[in-house]
Amino acid sequence: MASSSQPARVRFAPSPTGYLHLGGARTALYDYLLARKTGGQFILRIEDTDRKRFVPGAEQEIFNSLRWMGIDWDEGPDVGGSYGPYRQSERKEIYQKYAQELIARGHAFVCFCSPERLDKVRTEQQKRKEPPHYDGTCRYLTAEEVQARIDAGERYVVRFKTPKEGHTSVIDLLRGEITVENRTMDDYILVKSDGWALYHLAAAVDDHLMKITHVIRSAEWLPTLPLHSMIHGAFGWEEPIWVHLSLFLKPSGKGKMSKRDKAELVKDGYSIFVKELEGLGYVPEAVVNWAALMGWSYDDHTEFFTLPDLVEKFSLEKLNASPAAINFTKLDHFNGLHIRALPVDELARRIKPYFSERGIAADDDTLLKIAPIVQERLQGLDDAPELAGFFFQPDVNPEAEELVIKGLTPAASAELARQILVILEGLPDLKPETAEPPMRELVETSGLKAGQVFGLMRIAITGQKVSPPLFESMEIIGKEKVVARMLRAVEMLTSME
Ligand code: GLU
Repeated sequence: MASSSQPARVRFAPSPTGYLHLGGARTALYDYLLARKTGGQFILRIEDTDRKRFVPGAEQEIFNSLRWMGIDWDEGPDVGGSYGPYRQSERKEIYQKYAQELIARGHAFVCFCSPERLDKVRTEQQKRKEPPHYDGTCRYLTAEEVQARIDAGERYVVRFKTPKEGHTSVIDLLRGEITVENRTMDDYILVKSDGWALYHLAAAVDDHLMKITHVIRSAEWLPTLPLHSMIHGAFGWEEPIWVHLSLFLKPSGKGKMSKRDKAELVKDGYSIFVKELEGLGYVPEAVVNWAALMGWSYDDHTEFFTLPDLVEKFSLEKLNASPAAINFTKLDHFNGLHIRALPVDELARRIKPYFSERGIAADDDTLLKIAPIVQERLQGLDDAPELAGFFFQPDVNPEAEELVIKGLTPAASAELARQILVILEGLPDLKPETAEPPMRELVETSGLKAGQVFGLMRIAITGQKVSPPLFESMEIIGKEKVVARMLRAVEMLTSME
């Protein structure tokens, strides 16, 4: 068995049935980290033999989401490699050849049972309260009989000839030895009647031919792990190291996520699909950090990791098998941390599309100026247009009532607005160092609270009750517009007197 520090060849093997979800993203991330950490290779393999569940375009979406997270691969359908093809739908003949080899070795058999007969068998088993299983009818047909029926054009599947005696033990890296009684295992179908191999055979053959050293995947594959081990054994192949990751539980911690839970999440502004997280304003660095810690930890206190940090610090030994509740509050927390860690020009570049989506034409120069002052205040990138959209508008439109400051009459608010306007007009420029001291002085001399004076300026100049820091914002808006907006506030308040 390969050790966990040798160069690892690992594969992420999604079925193209929809968007990349959190579970897949975490598996791919761990694959990538192990490959990069050990100087090995990360392989992307598309498991698309189930043509009924195939979704056109899903493969590309999975690629896009992985690349968005910063994950790249060394071999795969789009980048090639020496062990291809990397789409299972292009490997049909390979699986058929290996199915024949298993039959020849006495580890698989051809089964002619019709779906109708199997249904009946199952119903009877249920009546007898037995777990459903294949009843063995075709297991002992002679080679001649099999050939004659194939020649006569009968449809058939290929089944694994699961040993009925003894037991099978497999080691999962996180769980230790797992032992099953062989008689509890079914004669699983390996190749369907249409000639397509099923996952169990296809994955075993590919993992062997692609020289995979570690199979990292979801815990939902644990029940069939003994079968996979038996298939490798039947061919006489060395098994990869098996790593079945912890299960995800719904945010409440109670049970697995259902379709309905997923729909509920979207209502709350969350999602378990990577593509949707992007739309919801999450930065990939936060998604990576969050996913990494759902089943792995470095120590008991470090929580901030970038992808390069993770490559350096990742180890299989620190994986954890206990089920983890999906905690979106933690994702929000990481989003805040990683947004604040972005270089400002990068933040400017990343918030731009969220403005365009809202129909706001945000120019690069202004974006560069506002990035540093919104950086502390963004929980998600999607908050940017609401917080800073006013920078790109020719005018702001506060309601007259909003200009009337708490604790003041319209007349007193108008008087205050006039004093502010006079000060603003007299300033040589609107740098915070120039503009802030006289306004503080106004607070002193007027006997008003800073919140009242700045509150009035904020609503008049930005049109909002909440904005990035006022004086920095005023400098970016520019004196001409600031004065014009203040003048308009004076007019509106005066007309209320
Ligand atoms: N195609 C399987 C899935 O999407 C892959 C499981 C594995 O990694 O072996 O769950």
